[in-house]
Amino acid sequence: MDEYFFKSRILNRASNISQLKSESFDLLIIGGGITGAGIALDAASRGLNVALVEKNDFAFGTSSRSTKLIHGGLRYLKQLEFGLVKEVGSERAVVHKLAPHLVVPEKMLLPLYETRGFGSLLTSIGLKLYDWLAGVKPEDQRRMLTRNQTLKQEPLLKPEDVKGGAIYAEYRTDDARLTIELIKTAAQYGACVANYSEVEDFIYQDEKITGAKVKDLISDFLFQIKAKVVVSATGPWVDELRTINHSKKGKRLHLTKGVHLVIPRTKFPVKQAIYFDVEDGRMIFAIPRGEITYVGTTDTDYQGSIDEVHTSKEDAEYLIRAVNRTFPEVNLGLEDIESSWAGLRPLIHEEGKSASELSRKDEIFESDTGLISIAGGKLTGYRKMAERVVDLVIEKYFDEVESPCQTENIPFIGSDFKNDNQVKEYLVSVAEKLQKIGLSHRAAYLVHNYGRQTDLILSHLLKSLANNNELELVKAELWFCLTHEMVVNPSDFFIRRTGLLYFNRPLLESVFNKVLEEFGVHFNWSSQKFQKEKSELEMSIKLVHNF
Ligand SMILES: Cc1cc2nc3c(=O)[nH]c(=O)nc-3n(C[C@H](O)[C@H](O)[C@H](O)COP(=O)(O)OP(=O)(O)OC[C@H]3O[C@@H](n4cnc5c(N)ncnc54)[C@H](O)[C@@H]3O)c2cc1C
Repeated sequence: MDEYFFKSRILNRASNISQLKSESFDLLIIGGGITGAGIALDAASRGLNVALVEKNDFAFGTSSRSTKLIHGGLRYLKQLEFGLVKEVGSERAVVHKLAPHLVVPEKMLLPLYETRGFGSLLTSIGLKLYDWLAGVKPEDQRRMLTRNQTLKQEPLLKPEDVKGGAIYAEYRTDDARLTIELIKTAAQYGACVANYSEVEDFIYQDEKITGAKVKDLISDFLFQIKAKVVVSATGPWVDELRTINHSKKGKRLHLTKGVHLVIPRTKFPVKQAIYFDVEDGRMIFAIPRGEITYVGTTDTDYQGSIDEVHTSKEDAEYLIRAVNRTFPEVNLGLEDIESSWAGLRPLIHEEGKSASELSRKDEIFESDTGLISIAGGKLTGYRKMAERVVDLVIEKYFDEVESPCQTENIPFIGSDFKNDNQVKEYLVSVAEKLQKIGLSHRAAYLVHNYGRQTDLILSHLLKSLANNNELELVKAELWFCLTHEMVVNPSDFFIRRTGLLYFNRPLLESVFNKVLEEFGVHFNWSSQKFQKEKSELEMSIKLVHNF
């Protein structure tokens, strides 16, 4: 455990910023989403000296607003995207192996209907092909269900509509935690990373990019980072950076918005994850998680601000209609929404295609001045996207580096589990420790969020037991995130490190004031700063459920 303690401490923002100012890097990555994080680990583990800057918090963009599935993308079969399904489908098992506590097997139920969707024969063949393309193990391959079996599996479905069903294998994750753990793993390999550091412009020499002008958004100071190669992994912001680089020509991004709603599990008590179709021919997920069920997603063209993306009343009504049509007993209303999130897909524009028809494939753009940009793709396929980018960087700029991609064998920090059984054994041991202080119900959350780093949180907790141990546990998590994960403000903690804003609003509300006080003490906030942070957090809470 000392090993984790030592290595995780590398995420120290102040010392990283001074390193970014003083060193000259092989590779500067702009963007701390899953794509940038994946490139950082791949490049650093091949021996490149890597810097990564993120203008918000890590995973602020699309990488904290996905459906949180590590999936092959069943619906892309319909678009005949066999290559994409094969790549991301096969990657599921790899990402699961690298972080089995964080990427957890999830069986998906696909109900079949008399009057809509595909028939059972086509579905059976499609799912077989899906399993085959991804090399799914025989015991996990799809199973077709009769009408009765389907209704038993999910009694909330409308019996008169259902004709049968299928069960197939996927994985669920927490996208923001996947990103932060990947960034910490890259830091273990020497990558120098900083959040709240915005690239405002590039530095050029002889018309080639040799670095970037960066603003530290916490101190407001400008500084420069020198690097031989610069990669923009800025997702929906890729075209903004290409504009700054005067290289936005040819292909461009097409942003589509996707929304998820969070409903208390008591109101929408699905027994398992379901993928069901909607009146307009699209399909959406309902995924149970702890005390809530989340539902999504929408897919609509987006023209608004990239920095401020929120759920609208229209988005919420669309999803509510879809749920009520398939699960009539549930009878959801807008007032049942506990939380929500909205994200942008950075897709590549194709003339004449609608939002849902656009390909999810990734694309690399290279400008005359040397800026390499990558956009599109899936959370699930991050490792392969990173490999393609780093192969290109090495081939063009570092031909002396001979090391091939290593990331298939680099487990995430906190994840030295050999298989799911080891995760379960560890979970039982954590639950036993927590039982003594009445907190065993928090064991699964801790282990799935932090893996073996849970030991660090527990040893901190055990030093500070008090009357309200639930609060003390959140404070121990806060200590861990402040010292090991570069948390800067309450939203980083409540949204992207713990997910409480989405998945446990009652707990968030009960610890809200105490956690803010801890922040105030840790960062020595003035009362003005305290009020500002408090109002910003209150606004974030309001925006996820007041439309
Ligand atoms: C609704 C929805 C559901 C999805 N569901 C799934 C799913 O279940 N499974 C799956 O595999 N994929 C899913 N995806 C796709 C997946 O989430 C994305 O492909 C992935 O998160 C994109 O990551 P990224 O790192 O490329 O972009 P982002 O996560 O957006 O990261 C880009 C980062 O760049 C930063 N940045 C921008 N400009 C600058 C600058 N000037 N200086 C410094 N930093 C900057 C931003 O702040 C941002 O954090 C979904 C997408 C959406 C929208």
